[in-house]
Amino acid sequence: MTPLHRLLTAEIAATGPMPLSRYMQACLQHPEHGYYATRDPLGRAGDFTTAPEISQMFGELLGLCLAQTWLDQGAPAPFALAELGPGRGTLMADALRATTSVPGFHAALQLHLVETSPSLRRLQADRLAAHSPTWHATPDTLPAMPLYLIANEFFDALPIRQFQRDPNGWRERVIGLSDNALCPGLSAPAPIAALDHRLEDTRPGDIVETCAPAQGIAQAIGAHVATHGGAALIVDYGDWRSLGDTFQAVRDHAATDPFAAPGMADLTAHVDFEALARAAAPAAHSRLTPQGVFFERLGITQRAQTLAQGLTGDALDAHVAAYRRLTHPGEMGSVFKTLALFPNGMPPPPGTET
Ligand code: SAH
Repeated sequence: MTPLHRLLTAEIAATGPMPLSRYMQACLQHPEHGYYATRDPLGRAGDFTTAPEISQMFGELLGLCLAQTWLDQGAPAPFALAELGPGRGTLMADALRATTSVPGFHAALQLHLVETSPSLRRLQADRLAAHSPTWHATPDTLPAMPLYLIANEFFDALPIRQFQRDPNGWRERVIGLSDNALCPGLSAPAPIAALDHRLEDTRPGDIVETCAPAQGIAQAIGAHVATHGGAALIVDYGDWRSLGDTFQAVRDHAATDPFAAPGMADLTAHVDFEALARAAAPAAHSRLTPQGVFFERLGITQRAQTLAQGLTGDALDAHVAAYRRLTHPGEMGSVFKTLALFPNGMPPPPGTET
């Protein structure tokens, strides 16, 4: 039994079954035993691989997309270039390198990183030292200036709650104990006003997921962009409206039981982009765009061809495979999506449309 397993078992024994959000929060963020507090989960040696770790093209094109948005908004100076959950700093390093030649962009930018993990903060510090980043625990403390922000695979790591529709309201999925083992169950049914709009498109037995922290963060970013200018590019797996159980655990690049070893596996859920877009008002939002389509519009094929000219053998094969992995609908091209937030009355960032 992991130390966190013992703590959670004791908590449930003392206070009763806990919502999934409490379980997910403890597993990922416990300061001593939480998944993100204790390791670098990314890359081949870690538990999962993300798009910026697959190819430099991902960060390059997102950086250029934000730089063009900045130019389209009149190149305000100074401005905050920010990332939520920057992982190893790879995406931001690629974005910064690709934008070196955008006139005025580097001179005007201040780099801000929102990250809770001490070990990942250290990696980011090494990688991005030349740009003297400022770290934040939440987006609430980002400076009051135009904000150009990227979040890749950030929102999927925030704690969700799950509700199952019942003829008499909704039953929450909670974690209790059975023979001292963690065991998911359902609470008694009750009406939930915040889910009234889901009575239209669900039937008894269906599961919907909510993520209050994600909505809070989208609200803060939307208000920031609407007040000070800027834009946010949110890339993640998910859909326009949550439906079904998408809670999952990944360890060593394979799916695993989320309740087997708390704190040892990455826990995620699909992102409900409609909830983010609604929370971000009064900022405008783009249409939800599949990752493959978005990167095709940003010119990934031309960029891939240019990079291919300098490669041969295994390196060329790996590059072609990475291009396919990012864009092909059977790989990351359609399960991953992009949502852009931007000020009302401004054009949407390149590659997105309203
Ligand atoms: N964006 C990176 C890393 C994705 S992993 C990439 O694409 O490779 C998720 C990242 O979000 C990690 O850096 C993790 O430490 C961070 N994170 C997770 N929950 C967070 C929270 N509540 N607040 C701030 N950062 C968080």
